[in-house]
Amino acid sequence: RNFEFGGAVSVSEKLLVLIVNDMVIFPNNEVRIEYDNTYDKQMIDIVDRIDDNLMLIVNPIEEDNVNVTSFPKYGVLGRLKLKMNVPNGKTRIVLEGLDRVEISSLVEEGNYFKASYNDIEIIETEDSKNYFNIIVKSLENYITKVPYMGNAIMSQLNGIDTLSDLCDLIVSFLPINYEDKKKYITTIDPIERAKYLIQDMNKDLKYAELEQRIEAEVEKELNDTQKEYFLREKIKLMQKELGEGNNKDSEVERLTKKVAKLKCSSKVKEKIKRELDRYDSLNSNSPEVGMIREYLDWMIHLPWNNYTNDTNDLNKVKSILDSSHYALEEVKDRILEYLAVKQNTNNLRSPIICLVGPPGVGKTSLAISIAKSLNRKTAKISVGGINDEAEIVGHRRTYIGANPGRIIQGIRKAGTTNPVFIIDEIDKMTKDIKGDPASSLLEVLDPEQNNKFSDHYIEEEFDLSKVMFIATANYVEQIPYELRDRLEIINISSYTEYEKLDIAKNHLIPKELEEHGLTSLQVQIADEAILTLIRNYTKEAGVRELERTIATLLRKIVKNLLLTNDVAFYNIDNDMIEELLGKKKYVYMETSSEDEVGVVNGMAYTAFGGDILPIEATLFKGKGDLVLTGSLGEVMQESCHIALNYIKANMDKFGIDSKTFEENDVHIHVPEGAVSKDGPSAGVTITTTLISLFANKKVSRDVAMTGEITLRGRVLGIGGLKEKVIGSHRAGIKKIFIPTENEKDLDEIPDDIKKDIKFIAVNNYKVG
Ligand code: ADP
Repeated sequence: RNFEFGGAVSVSEKLLVLIVNDMVIFPNNEVRIEYDNTYDKQMIDIVDRIDDNLMLIVNPIEEDNVNVTSFPKYGVLGRLKLKMNVPNGKTRIVLEGLDRVEISSLVEEGNYFKASYNDIEIIETEDSKNYFNIIVKSLENYITKVPYMGNAIMSQLNGIDTLSDLCDLIVSFLPINYEDKKKYITTIDPIERAKYLIQDMNKDLKYAELEQRIEAEVEKELNDTQKEYFLREKIKLMQKELGEGNNKDSEVERLTKKVAKLKCSSKVKEKIKRELDRYDSLNSNSPEVGMIREYLDWMIHLPWNNYTNDTNDLNKVKSILDSSHYALEEVKDRILEYLAVKQNTNNLRSPIICLVGPPGVGKTSLAISIAKSLNRKTAKISVGGINDEAEIVGHRRTYIGANPGRIIQGIRKAGTTNPVFIIDEIDKMTKDIKGDPASSLLEVLDPEQNNKFSDHYIEEEFDLSKVMFIATANYVEQIPYELRDRLEIINISSYTEYEKLDIAKNHLIPKELEEHGLTSLQVQIADEAILTLIRNYTKEAGVRELERTIATLLRKIVKNLLLTNDVAFYNIDNDMIEELLGKKKYVYMETSSEDEVGVVNGMAYTAFGGDILPIEATLFKGKGDLVLTGSLGEVMQESCHIALNYIKANMDKFGIDSKTFEENDVHIHVPEGAVSKDGPSAGVTITTTLISLFANKKVSRDVAMTGEITLRGRVLGIGGLKEKVIGSHRAGIKKIFIPTENEKDLDEIPDDIKKDIKFIAVNNYKVG
């Protein structure tokens, strides 16, 4: 049977047709194929014998029941480059694609098909040159983003100068499925192929991106303990390879001796012995061996009944606490009370103290001093960011990479059953599908239950009732409610400049001098210089940055002392500070240089303490719009609207003409635009700023105010009064309006600040 395409005249001799059903062989492309079916092997033998070793490679349109109608119009002229019979009975060949050709006629002869073909001439146009460049660019992008697409392809680009060849080369590398690849042979126009190629590369790029995203997610899911476990197993394997593994028998002997000496209950001892027997009976190659060994390690090293005796001398405790920390009387008192009652009754549950305050005010270091003063060990964990209850109570031993929770880990590190156990960042735990760590922590802290604390990994009960827990947090409102209930909250607020000065002189400087091997005979720092450090080189509620800055200063001095032998004594004043530490890092807001219309000092409370917050307003011709700038949060924007509407509703009282509102736009601005500001406490200040503006009355620059305002002009209480007042005092404020509700907070403000400021409590907005 003869089959002709559109009556085309066959010009070539007939070639054997190699039918390929699972791969596409492109021109200029070499592939290795193995055959084990007899028909194909025979055919290859024939091709091997003919001159040129040519054949026609064709991908049939459908795989089943191939007959002459199953072939597409185009195929690839191929040459058998190498044929080898390999020992497994297969025939391995190397096949080279030469050219895309048009099949002109096709016949079935015996078991094979034969075909004649026409060469195809492909004309390169200006357009195809443009596409050439586009494809090269896309390829570069593709290679940088798709990791498995090596650079190998780039080196092959050199010899290529037509779009058709370029497409053939690239597509032979692309991970496209067979069915989609076939169209690249039967599409003759290289521009059409280029378009397909761009589409397919983009599709694959998207796929690769998705894959990378998923991998990253999985990586995240694999939590730290599991990662650690995999790493440890790897190390063990390597040790085994290097012949460094332990000899199990001698180890069992050693462990048995240790168990005998353990001071744990007989129940726990039985359990450990059982595990030890299991360990002994297992083959060292068993995967369980490592897990049991690790478990034994935990059980043997836990301080089952190992405790320290508390110092009984109250005076000694007090003096240690006083020498390490300035003020903080409430906490220190609480510790002394605890000891006193304990001495009197001899059996007392430890209090669960929670120190709440901004960073650097001494929460953690005080807890460490408490341990020292009581002669207890310390354990410290942070629960910030924890979202998995297994972090607290451990994983069950069946879990890959199981570990005890952080409580047991802390206890093991401390080495006693009665350490001071610091739990940092108790306000930063989160809750999700992995459970609620706060409720697990509740069990840990509950004195009714914690003498029988059960960690999922340890499986045996551990007595936590002798532990003195001290938690720390930044914000009391963010401590999970059920926990807050259990804790004795003690607030530590930010320090004033003068408190900081005291802390620096009595604690930080002596401590740092000692650490740098200096004495006060070599270095003296003047009070005004310390105040400069506090005001212009640090910005914080606590003293951590101050401590670091002092350390930096002393480091530079030590260096100078050693470099130049002629100076033996440093008396540090303000000038030297700038010389040693460089230019001032912070300047605080200052009040305007004179009283102005439309500028009033508000008061801010930030993580760094307090500061004044001047609010400005201007008027210009318009139609009653309100413009707000200065990164104001939603609540603060609302305050602006409330203030304006309150004034509109009471304009007669304030002596303002209604035309002022109708014919002007108002612009309210809060300087230091990059810092976002929010909260309702600027309400009173905004109101005053606007009244000053509309009524054209100056407001004294020595005055500051804080308070929320309602639509009816009531003044409501605010938070952070102490910090706000300290900041205002620094800025030179002489008179402060506060909400009546906050009058009680004035007690907290140090007298040396109170004496310079006149406070006026208000509960209603009135213009006097
Ligand atoms: P927090 O836990 O509140 O963030 P830290 O306990 O880490 O703060 O304190 C930071 C540094 O400041 C510590 O070196 C500490 O000694 C010092 N410090 C803080 N408050 C005081 C204080 N009242 N007296 C002495 N040093 C203090």
